[in-house]
Amino acid sequence: MNKSLHTIDQYFDWVPAVSLAQVKQAISQIVLNDKAKLAESFYVYMMEDPGAAPLLSVKSVEERLKPGLERWLESLFCYETDSELQAVLAMQRHVGAVHARADIPVHLVARGMRLLKREISVRVVASGLDTTETVVAVMRVSYLIDIAFEEMSAAFVLSHDVGIRTDEAYRMFAAGQNLSLERAKQTGALLDWENRLFRALATEATFEALSSLRNAPFGLWLHHKAPLIFDESSELVLIDECMRRIDEALFPPAVPHGTQRRPAENRSLVTTVITEVEQIKYLLANMFDRLTDLEVGRDVLTQLFNRRFLPTILKREIELNRRKKTSFCVLMLDIDFFKRVNDQYGHDAGDRVLQHVAGLLIGQVRASDFVFRYGGEEFLVVLAELDAIQAGQVAEKIRSRVEATEIPLSDEHTVRLTLSIGIAPHTGHPDFEHLVARADKALFAAKDNGRNRCELAPA
Ligand code: GH3
Ligand code: MG
Ligand code: MG
Repeated sequence: MNKSLHTIDQYFDWVPAVSLAQVKQAISQIVLNDKAKLAESFYVYMMEDPGAAPLLSVKSVEERLKPGLERWLESLFCYETDSELQAVLAMQRHVGAVHARADIPVHLVARGMRLLKREISVRVVASGLDTTETVVAVMRVSYLIDIAFEEMSAAFVLSHDVGIRTDEAYRMFAAGQNLSLERAKQTGALLDWENRLFRALATEATFEALSSLRNAPFGLWLHHKAPLIFDESSELVLIDECMRRIDEALFPPAVPHGTQRRPAENRSLVTTVITEVEQIKYLLANMFDRLTDLEVGRDVLTQLFNRRFLPTILKREIELNRRKKTSFCVLMLDIDFFKRVNDQYGHDAGDRVLQHVAGLLIGQVRASDFVFRYGGEEFLVVLAELDAIQAGQVAEKIRSRVEATEIPLSDEHTVRLTLSIGIAPHTGHPDFEHLVARADKALFAAKDNGRNRCELAPA
């Protein structure tokens, strides 16, 4: 980004400072005066575009998009200081990420940018600047739109890639890659290396014949294949650190090769290796477990949909909604005072409660709805083709059902719990995160207003 700033100064370094100041002033005046008209012609043009029109509704254009574009124009062309421009450019990355989540094609954005360049330039030419200043002004308008677009597209491509990777990971494993076999093989490879080490410790004075763990089949698999399967999981880094600690303990860099070890050293080696290998096994199991859930798309504990597929499902619902002109709603639910269950009856009892609540939720919605485990004791429900009032009724039904249920903890004990629920109807905003954030906010309101209640997000 500093590079862009650097370039903008360089780009116009041939223009005398006085003229440049005049040019900036003129552009800023044009945009301040005409931002409403500019936004108007932008969306008239977009609504006529066969690619863009289906993505836009009159309501969203009037209520949200036009005012948004006016703010965008003002921030890009009327900034005062370089640090303000930096902030504007940072905002472009946010815009790009939103476009990616809303599946707005980059070429449509480029088309809109071209129209804006034209509209502003026409006004620059008519503004009474002298010839050189007019040229500089048109260049500047074009330059600013280009760098904003550059930042936007970079963020767009990044977010879009992540989305595609998730979808692909899902497809790859849903298509039946044999994960259990891979898991058994790699756990076996790790144990095999550990056995060799223990045999060497028992029978040999040096480790001449033993390879380091990182060069053993397990280590090689972890470096080459595991990143493809687990897609940059944080566990990979941790496992690599465990392997490094093991290898350094076995082959200390300061000790010449072939030096004999004393028994005390052997004992501490065994402890180090056992501890680190246990840790590796644990991390490995975590990664595989997550992937197995992913494979079936379900949360292991509750069997509800895995949160990871929320973007896929919500994007699809938003798209269906756009085509069928129906509406849908999202409920965000959180168990009240759940921590007390864990504190009083233990974590296992807490787990059983979560399973039970998940079952209650499934029982209260239709087969067309989606129930996700959103977090620890938080759930998210997607109610297809329902309006705010109907969704409110479903939410209330869920709330009262949970309140009335004696949830079994063990053979002797039961517990009664309540839920707080936030309801957000889809408003046509193409970004699913916006919808989820509104449901979340409504949930907070329900907690604030005393729990065991439903709150509707403001439109
Ligand atoms: P509030 O009414 O404000 O929501 O209170 P709360 O106690 O429900 O909320 P808080 O966020 O303080 O605590 C949530 C607890 O849920 C903390 C965490 O230990 C527990 N939890 C999260 N995931 C699991 C899980 O998978 N199993 C169990 N047993 N407990 C979990
Ligand atoms: Mg919570
Ligand atoms: Mg809670």
